[in-house]
Amino acid sequence: MVNYDTLRGIKLFLFDMDGTLYLGDRLFDFTPELLDVIRSKGAKYMFMTNNSSKSVTDYIKKLARLGIESEYGDFITSSQATAYYLKKHHSGATLYVCGTESLKEELRQNGFEVSEDLEKIECIVMGFDTELTFKKLHDVSYLLLTRPDIPYIATNPDYVCPTEFGSVPDCGSVCDMLYNVSRRRPIVIGKPEPLMPQLAMEMAGVAREQTAVIGDRIYTDIKSGLASEALAILVMSGETTREILDASPEKPDMVLDSAKEILEALK
Ligand SMILES: [Mg+2]
Repeated sequence: MVNYDTLRGIKLFLFDMDGTLYLGDRLFDFTPELLDVIRSKGAKYMFMTNNSSKSVTDYIKKLARLGIESEYGDFITSSQATAYYLKKHHSGATLYVCGTESLKEELRQNGFEVSEDLEKIECIVMGFDTELTFKKLHDVSYLLLTRPDIPYIATNPDYVCPTEFGSVPDCGSVCDMLYNVSRRRPIVIGKPEPLMPQLAMEMAGVAREQTAVIGDRIYTDIKSGLASEALAILVMSGETTREILDASPEKPDMVLDSAKEILEALK
């Protein structure tokens, strides 16, 4: 039985997108009303994604195609979180970015110089690089092997990104290729780490006791929710089955058939 009082006490809802609010290109029918009701009750929501291949502008367009109006401040992406982390820990560093032009642009907008001059590089950033070339793999291998002390950061640890036909390799898989070369593992920013929810709470000015992380994957969404000490809500509308849930050592704080149950609680 879902604890409706707990859900009514939430002031910040951090939603995973695919599998939670829509599936592929199909918006769940409850999603528009759910978002409206959250705002009408004076609470906030944000969309939280590990995908660093797309910019916030790309996501605003994607959601608009599905029928959801959104703006820049409604999102927390692993690209934004990476920029935040870099500003805090490697301010002013010249970056080598193995990522898309969207990721590079996000980092430039945050004041970083992105360079391909390997002798100038002070930090390596790996993203979900849908524009990956062998030259980039070569350059990062060179940096990892010749500059063993250089900071090495990855936007997200996902091994695969879902597609219509199955999946394609994501950032984590490319980092594994580079591990075979260098025996180095990057510092990971996105889910399942707690940084994205923590950053969202800071941006929204809401405490963790009044924050919920809602998603369909235990090993990313739920782990980041638990690690950030927010309420971790698993929805069964995406990739997690009962068997996966039963076998998982990580247990969500709450399990819902879908985010529609949040709507029912708030109404
Ligand atoms: Mg998902």
